[in-house]
Amino acid sequence: MSDRMSELVKTLNNYAYHYYVLDNPIVSDKEYDALYDELTALEKSLNITLADSPTLRVGGDILKGFKKYTHKKRLYSLDKCQTKEELKKWTEKILAAYGAVRFTVEYKFDGLSVNLFYKDGLLQTAATRGNGTVGEDVTAQIKTVKTVPLKIPFSGECEVQGEVIMRKSALAEYNEKNPQDPLKNERNAAAGAVRNLDPKVTAGRKLDVIVYGVGYISEENFNTEKSFKNGGIEPRIPGEKSALKSNIKDDAEARITSEKDTEKNIENDGAEQRKTIGSKGVKARKITGQDAEKNIENGGTESRIFTTQTGMIEFLKNNGFKTADYFKTAETSAALAAEITEIEARRESLDYLIDGAVIKVDDLNIRAELGYTEKFPRYAVAYKFEAEEAATVLRDVVWQVSRTGKLNPLAVLDPVELAGVTVSRATLSNFSEIKRKDIRINSRVFVRRSNDVIPEITGIAEHFADSVPVEPPLVCPSCGGELRADSVFIYCLNKTDCRGVIVSKLSHYASRGAMDIEGLSEKTIEAFYDGLNVRSIADLYRLDFDGLTALDGFRDKKARNIIDAIERSKNAGLADFIYALGIENVGKKAAKELAANFKSMEGMERASRAEIEGIRDFGEVTASCVYDFFRNEKNLKEIGEIFSLGVKLKNYESKPGRTGVFSGKNVVLTGTLERYKRSEAKEMIESLGGETSDAVTLKVNLVVAGADAGNKLEKAKKLGIEIISETEFQKMIENGKRG
Ligand code: AMP
Ligand code: ZN
Repeated sequence: MSDRMSELVKTLNNYAYHYYVLDNPIVSDKEYDALYDELTALEKSLNITLADSPTLRVGGDILKGFKKYTHKKRLYSLDKCQTKEELKKWTEKILAAYGAVRFTVEYKFDGLSVNLFYKDGLLQTAATRGNGTVGEDVTAQIKTVKTVPLKIPFSGECEVQGEVIMRKSALAEYNEKNPQDPLKNERNAAAGAVRNLDPKVTAGRKLDVIVYGVGYISEENFNTEKSFKNGGIEPRIPGEKSALKSNIKDDAEARITSEKDTEKNIENDGAEQRKTIGSKGVKARKITGQDAEKNIENGGTESRIFTTQTGMIEFLKNNGFKTADYFKTAETSAALAAEITEIEARRESLDYLIDGAVIKVDDLNIRAELGYTEKFPRYAVAYKFEAEEAATVLRDVVWQVSRTGKLNPLAVLDPVELAGVTVSRATLSNFSEIKRKDIRINSRVFVRRSNDVIPEITGIAEHFADSVPVEPPLVCPSCGGELRADSVFIYCLNKTDCRGVIVSKLSHYASRGAMDIEGLSEKTIEAFYDGLNVRSIADLYRLDFDGLTALDGFRDKKARNIIDAIERSKNAGLADFIYALGIENVGKKAAKELAANFKSMEGMERASRAEIEGIRDFGEVTASCVYDFFRNEKNLKEIGEIFSLGVKLKNYESKPGRTGVFSGKNVVLTGTLERYKRSEAKEMIESLGGETSDAVTLKVNLVVAGADAGNKLEKAKKLGIEIISETEFQKMIENGKRG
């Protein structure tokens, strides 16, 4: 082994630690890449790779299957509560027994739990929770996650528990690059990537692991004196001060939360606290050395390396793990309730999914006394936000033809309550997903609804004796025509007169947000298809009053209204028309961008592939769809026909240029803003002359970073984009309004 090699590994790991864990890069990508390349070359020439080499993170060969791992300490589930009333009861039971107790509040991350086993300072195994006792070995997959240290300063044995997540920004970025097969949900994307036998797939998802606990820890080689001072370990990177200085110098300076009293809490770290309990406690008791001994024997988290949850988190930080940006303490149920209200309010704006908060007793000695039930620890509870997932029986799968000919499977479910609404339909994405998830009719499935998207089936809860596999359709359910299947989707090949394709194409054309033709529902369009031979958009403009009234159920008034609505649509805006055409991958936003860039239909037809690709947020695939659409004779002919029947587009006019402090600025908001709602902040920026974007690209020239800002902030730093705080942002707005 060469000295240069270990030096390179150490340096690169330190850079990566600053980049991924601290969100604070200290070198440019170029510098990093140069050293990385040097290391790769050296490893190749010597045929050696160190156990913590960053080159191990790219993901190796495809695995044959999952091995099992027996957790040293069982991974428990958490007891749940769903109202503040229930939480109060839970808290007060503990307070009644112990007098004064400090609780910690953490996010409940919505991902996949993972248990990381370290020995001799090296990551040995990473495993899923499984049944709590035995999980699946996913070491190769987890090694690709950059926030998981391959080497830590602590040299004893320990199991660290955390959650594998995919950030919302990582998912958005992934989907921008893979629009043909987008990921729908961060949690499933993370779980699917970990439970995948190809570690390269895991690497490609850019996952994170956020840790929240130490399950098992060996006490050997441990100096108790030191432990209370600095978490019991040497600085993570010898000679490397900046990152850990605060932690090492003095626990009181640790920055777990901005709250003063947590600092105090760390300073006291246990000893003080026990005294407090002793003096105030109703059933107070002194915890003796013997108790502590017993606790350790219990095999618990009850370690002397740290004696509180706060200390545990500090230990994890000192060992280079990524912990949550949020961690608070509270001592009353009212204070806990207030924290939860706050978390709920900022939930949507976080860069990751959380489905609740976890409240834990801070003091590990009290925890040891409280112990466990069959399933849960008694010292912790999950406050779950309103359920967004439920289980119900899948009764049928119907195939709906979309306007592009793609067949979309729709699940027919036994109705179930989900976050306040009754759900009886859900999407199943595509046939390959149905196979992959082993979805069967008559089985119990999990349905999930997030925000305002259509509910989706996320997996199987249980199969029954009468469960039967979902069969793919053999012919188009709408026209009986021939189908073609690629690796993911099934398409109807009948492009000219498949009823399903035409009806959904025309419904889209007439829909709100597109041409907004009132009265042209899907049912009405079906009636026109069947009774009036309507086969194209142009045919809509050929309809007349007499034709309509000849149809069943179309009286004079209804017919008149529809004819009038179609007539009104002849004066459409360019962006609405482009959207209405239903070009694959072109949503409202993309249509607006196209209109703003090319100004007219002629401009669109003339646009080169490169020009389209140059539009902000346009990926290669979307650009191709647009370009190809305007190369297709049939599409051009139809557009010509529509125009000849009297549709006159208002050509694109840019909005009367508003000017203000944000003129010429393209702004991205990231992290949690305390003083503004996202939508408010966006409106302010636009009203003061600026534009806003969701992703950080080279076109962006200002980033407003609130609390907990993550990847977008990182990217902005890398790109050298100007970054301002919420306070500076507020000042700009105030100046702007005055000016
Ligand atoms: P459940 O599976 O709903 O019973 O909840 C227990 C799971 O919550 C654990 O297995 C963890 O994966 C997850 N979890 C997420 N965040 C935390 C946290 N801060 N502390 C403990 N567990 C958490
Ligand atoms: Zn068809």
